[in-house]
Amino acid sequence: MPDLKFCRRCLYASDHPLGLTLDEAGICSGCRVHEEKDRLDWDARWQRLEQLVKPYRRVNGGSYDCIIPVSGARDSYFMVYLAKERLGLNPLLVTYNHYFNTALGIRNLANLRIRFNCDILYQNVNPTSVKKITRSALRRFGSLYWPVLAGQTVFPVQTAVRYRVPLILWGAHQGLEQVGMFSHEHEVEMTRRHRKDHDLMGCEPEDLLSTFDILKEEDIWQYRYPDDQDLHAVGVRGIYLGNYVRWDPKAQHEQMMQQYGYRTAAFRRTFDCYDHVDCYNYMDLHDLLKLYKHGYSKVTDHASREIRFGRLTRAQGLALVRAHEQAPLSYTAGFCQWMGATPQGLQFLLDRHRNPRYWQQTEPGQWAFRGWSTLQEVGAARDERKLDSACAFLRNDTLERGTDSGHITVGKGWP
Ligand SMILES: [Zn+2]
Repeated sequence: MPDLKFCRRCLYASDHPLGLTLDEAGICSGCRVHEEKDRLDWDARWQRLEQLVKPYRRVNGGSYDCIIPVSGARDSYFMVYLAKERLGLNPLLVTYNHYFNTALGIRNLANLRIRFNCDILYQNVNPTSVKKITRSALRRFGSLYWPVLAGQTVFPVQTAVRYRVPLILWGAHQGLEQVGMFSHEHEVEMTRRHRKDHDLMGCEPEDLLSTFDILKEEDIWQYRYPDDQDLHAVGVRGIYLGNYVRWDPKAQHEQMMQQYGYRTAAFRRTFDCYDHVDCYNYMDLHDLLKLYKHGYSKVTDHASREIRFGRLTRAQGLALVRAHEQAPLSYTAGFCQWMGATPQGLQFLLDRHRNPRYWQQTEPGQWAFRGWSTLQEVGAARDERKLDSACAFLRNDTLERGTDSGHITVGKGWP
């Protein structure tokens, strides 16, 4: 049985893959940094942001003021809203095609660029290379998302260099939000090192070449981070808006649904229907692999976040995790077809990435789960917070929206 310690407030354990510490009171570093959201002077922090972006604003309107990485989901709408409507910047939107697009995601992205009236660049890496890398990363890291993360984190930086637009705006810093890796007051910025260590699991694209014969330079060059010399010549910097705005994804999505027509969809494996609606695999196969490797899945992230915001009690959060994390997958057939794999072949590969700390094979094909949710109990010793508000998520669409509308072709408008 794994030796785990759990935060008394949220549902995270001491072996969180991003690194997490528990203080004498048994509260985790992520919960402590979250307390800053109710303590910092956010008006003053917004003014800092206004000052920070000021030198990047082009007065003659002849170019872009900043770059914003977007997709058909997550924080894309809110970031563009902040940049364009609140800061008055002229952003260049960039998006990396992650290949597992839902019709709803394509619709959300088309609607984003139309409603905010922005220019957008798409990066479509050729399917042969993407499949080769996906196959390699699945075998090596148990991750089908490695090329997606590599592409999403590098294309904006490459674009900054090519277009000579130095400022990149990112949303919230995942390490800060989840585990309190930094304080908001540190105002950390994007680094090559963080991308490698956390987004890319310690492996730069070129490192894959020495491990897999099937990969050649022509497959991975699109994922290479620009040279320091090029970055310095343009003065590229990437800032996180979450350091300057009290980041609350649930409230932000609801505002974007109401004002700009962002659309949501339900998932079996979590209760948060706002995140990741642009992808068939993120909340499905990718989420199962997270459970295999780390003993918890995305629903634990969602529940922990809502507990911290005072919208769920710890007991309610744990009940939601237990209700969702073992839900069956919905979209593996499509992935198998895309990869050219059989369901049995895929399952064999997935089973190899089950972490023995959390999974014991009881007989061939049968596994007993001893992950985070099964090891913690809600007891009297737990830090149960009083609820500030109820945690109701609104749903206004399905992942399939767009398939019969003729608007799924990239470049067409909506509606
Ligand atoms: Zn915590």
